[in-house]
Amino acid sequence: MQIRNIFLNNNTIFARNFSFIMDSELYLDANATSPVLTAAIVAAHAAMQIDFGNPSSSHAAGLRARVILDEAHARARRVLGAGTGRVMFTSGATEGIQTAVLSALCALRERRAAGQPCGDLLLYGATEHKAVPESLAHWNRILGTNLTLQALPVDADGRHRLDLLRELAPRTAFLCTMAANNESGVVSDLDGIAAVLAETASPALWMVDCVQALGKLPLDLQRTRIDYAPFSGHKLYAPKGVGMLYVRDGAPFTALMCGGGQEGGQRSGTENMAGIAALGAVLRALEEGGVFRSHAQLLYARDRLAAALRAAFPAIVFNTPFAHALPTTLNFAVPGLSGKELLDLFDAAGIRVSAGSACSAARAAPSYVLEAMGLPAWRCANAVRLSLGPLLDDAFVDAAVERIARCGEALRKLPLAASRPGAAGVYHFGADGGWLVFDPAGGDCVAIDVPAALAERVTALLRQHAYRLRAVLATTEDGGAALRDRLQAAGWPAACETVRMADGSPADAIRLGREVLARRPGAAGFLLATVEEGVLAKVRLAFGDASDDAIVCRPAGIDAALQPMRQPAELARHQLKHFFAAHPDALLIDVREACEHAAGTPSLQGRAAYSLPLSRLADHAAWLRDEARPLVFFCRSGNRSLKAAQCLQGLGRERVWHLAGGLALLHD
Ligand code: PLP
Repeated sequence: MQIRNIFLNNNTIFARNFSFIMDSELYLDANATSPVLTAAIVAAHAAMQIDFGNPSSSHAAGLRARVILDEAHARARRVLGAGTGRVMFTSGATEGIQTAVLSALCALRERRAAGQPCGDLLLYGATEHKAVPESLAHWNRILGTNLTLQALPVDADGRHRLDLLRELAPRTAFLCTMAANNESGVVSDLDGIAAVLAETASPALWMVDCVQALGKLPLDLQRTRIDYAPFSGHKLYAPKGVGMLYVRDGAPFTALMCGGGQEGGQRSGTENMAGIAALGAVLRALEEGGVFRSHAQLLYARDRLAAALRAAFPAIVFNTPFAHALPTTLNFAVPGLSGKELLDLFDAAGIRVSAGSACSAARAAPSYVLEAMGLPAWRCANAVRLSLGPLLDDAFVDAAVERIARCGEALRKLPLAASRPGAAGVYHFGADGGWLVFDPAGGDCVAIDVPAALAERVTALLRQHAYRLRAVLATTEDGGAALRDRLQAAGWPAACETVRMADGSPADAIRLGREVLARRPGAAGFLLATVEEGVLAKVRLAFGDASDDAIVCRPAGIDAALQPMRQPAELARHQLKHFFAAHPDALLIDVREACEHAAGTPSLQGRAAYSLPLSRLADHAAWLRDEARPLVFFCRSGNRSLKAAQCLQGLGRERVWHLAGGLALLHD
């Protein structure tokens, strides 16, 4: 069965066919980058295939390319309101920022050498894109200007502290602020900043990073006192690798790149004509109107999306006051759900958003933008950003609203639900370590080797399921105390059952459904086992090294410390068809969380998948180990499936595969 992938065309939605999984992609991460406008693709294509000349050549092919270049220049000037200022095409905003910083610092160095007054501060907004402070530090060092870098704090709404700017302005040599923030969407008070600068006798040079403003905020740069304004094409439906820099008439300028004198000597190097032609097409759409949505239409779209989010996640907190933010950016956090979990859930429903914080594979760093706004740590660490481009229609918003509702419904798939009637359930916290063992029928739960840093997470999970925390245990002598303190919880209960081990020796036991968690007096580990006539019958799992024959659960995962990690067999997407033809009996196992599976149930090559979340693999490890059929694990990106496959291999299981790159790569 074919599925359809929705992207936005000029005014319409068009579909792309995919044959791997039954879902479609809604791209809501426009602040990271946007798809390319069809008119821009056509223009780039023509600039590569038909009018491919070098605009510096004087023959006919060159002259045709020159027309494209000149037209794009003229449009850029009009759209930006550049007046008599300079506009040059660059490779993107990062290059524009370098050029602006180099220009400003060279001028300041000259001013100082000539004994003219000039401040000692390079002041930048605390929420600037990293390209700004990094470039300031880089060129300050390279040019030996030795000015002092200082961040200008923002208030709780994310707006620059104008009171502090007023204090610092007399000392400021170069000020860098952004028009709108890429993470929070907060729109700066540029008029307020300009007014403060105007109060000083020799105002600082001023760069405004306008990357997120193009197409979303009115621009008339000649009417401002902004000296430098960089832009990036790929944030507004042009391809990556092209951008613009505006430099106010009379503002100091030093070329970053010298050579053949292209762009009037302002930026040498043969022009990226495909990129410029494409950006020209976007500028044309901006200038002529009718393609991009109006501010009012975007506000309406935002209100619908915000309402859908509130309905799906009733406890949601928006991190930016809507009154001061672009209508195209929604930044939020949901108590009890990590940013990574939300991202995975949205991804499963086919909605592409980004974690507001910078994510590395293992851990998410808290958002420095939200930290600068003074938001609580959990919101900084777990923020998610949903961002739209101004190329929208109602069908797209309808689809997004429906998918968001589906995410809310999928969350009802509880992570601590029973996996087999009567048996205790086992949940693993993943890389952060530790286990919950729980009795879905009786409502008791025991934590083993859970670090204190997960206290809030444990509380949220227990509350969600209405479990009672009976004991906080550890397989090491000194473990568990910190979590016990945080949760005001007990250790091993004083009153408990006594059972016998197979060798007849006594053991204390906590009953969890028809199983018990048993502990030999004085031993560090625990056994999860069934009991027959007071004697431990079948030991399913051993926490710590309390048993030789059971599957051993260590803080980091099943058997993780015992077996050297092997690289399990990888399946690339192009191998799937042949693989399933060769192994028609293979078991396809989705190790994403149950809510992800529910949000978008995939089928690979028309085969249904079992949902066995990695966090619950211990519940299933024994039968998977003994199962004869080949096992194929998959997840969103290939990380969790790799762990599951390694885990089964660690248990001695052969014929285990995992889908390299995960479901993400199944979209063409
Ligand atoms: N400034 C802002 C506000 C941005 O959002 C970005 C890109 O994320 C940049 C600068 C850098 O743009 P580029 O990577 O296209 O050079």
